[in-house]
Amino acid sequence: MIGPSFERIPTNMNTKTVPSDIRARNIMAVFNLLFPAATVSRSELGRTLGLSRMATTEVTGEMLDNHIIREVGEDTRAGRGKRSVMLAIDTAFWRIITIDLSQPYLLQGALVDLGGRIIERMEVPIEDRVSISITLIAELAQKLMAASSQPILGLGVAVPGVVNHEGTVVDAVQLGWKDVPLHDELRDILDLPVLIGNATNAALVAERFFGEGGADSMLIRIGAGVGASLCLNGEIVDGSACMAGEIGHVVVDPEGPGCACGKRGCLEAYLSTNNLYAQIASDPANRTEILTGAGQLLGRVMAMPLGLLNLHDVTIDAPADIGGETFIHAMSGELSAALNTQYMTIPLLHRCQVGPNASLRGQAISVLRRIVPHIRQLSTHMHTAHDE
Ligand SMILES: [Zn+2]
Repeated sequence: MIGPSFERIPTNMNTKTVPSDIRARNIMAVFNLLFPAATVSRSELGRTLGLSRMATTEVTGEMLDNHIIREVGEDTRAGRGKRSVMLAIDTAFWRIITIDLSQPYLLQGALVDLGGRIIERMEVPIEDRVSISITLIAELAQKLMAASSQPILGLGVAVPGVVNHEGTVVDAVQLGWKDVPLHDELRDILDLPVLIGNATNAALVAERFFGEGGADSMLIRIGAGVGASLCLNGEIVDGSACMAGEIGHVVVDPEGPGCACGKRGCLEAYLSTNNLYAQIASDPANRTEILTGAGQLLGRVMAMPLGLLNLHDVTIDAPADIGGETFIHAMSGELSAALNTQYMTIPLLHRCQVGPNASLRGQAISVLRRIVPHIRQLSTHMHTAHDE
């Protein structure tokens, strides 16, 4: 079944047009309390959010009608007098399609429920990321759409590169893309709400809800390139030109090795997996020293931004044979030496807990967080669809 076409959902989801009225804010507040897997009664919801009984009934009613939340039986905890109906995210109705362009050798797609769980997965083997085309992405989305027995809320695409607020991929070196209007092209082909996002940002969103990421946290991805993502007060920081976290080509040593970008001594010239694997292959006996040096370097260059930001945690998203215990221990040692004082301790450093699905799941979560505040429009449209 293909879902309704949502003309009344923001025409471009990449442009942040969150309704500012109280009802929309209440919907988002209820969603945030329940996502991904909490069960809460109406009266607890009202108390926590400071809503009157009437306002609580209204907002939860609207979310129930639109299958965003559902009733999940009664509170059976001991010591309760009158039993109350519990509410949770409705994971049975809507599906989100999500596609990750950041994996080597495969184009990865999935159907995800409103709790962020992968329901069905599809993969297209690719020789190289440069062979990824808009047609290939659209075909995978159509296959996932056809495989879903439930209506589709929207499509998310996670891109290893810079994405602007129009959903245009400004620059994605690994894909060989420059100024590709991915949002507009996919929406025209698929007639669905589409949200294009940076794959590292998506991974941090997933880590936040399903791993160990806090509301103030950072994720550093080490792969063919090196990039970071920053979350402050629970919001991903895009930066003034959507370039926040693009640390791969920041020079850490002007005398360092040449980089593909033309400069010398970029962070990526030291820490890309290609470089580290090549170093280890030419000197396998010194594997531990090589990874220790890499971890120390990252700790040294990140000490100042981390001192500035006082984050809760930093996720290291790297292949297990690179970003393992040796690397993290070395980074942690360097950060402690630079940052620890009587008043300040370093953020918690940990490996990505969500694993290789992080960007896939995170982009789906971003889609639903972008659409849920618009559920009134959604319900209007569903009524129209009924009447026809
Ligand atoms: Zn460079």
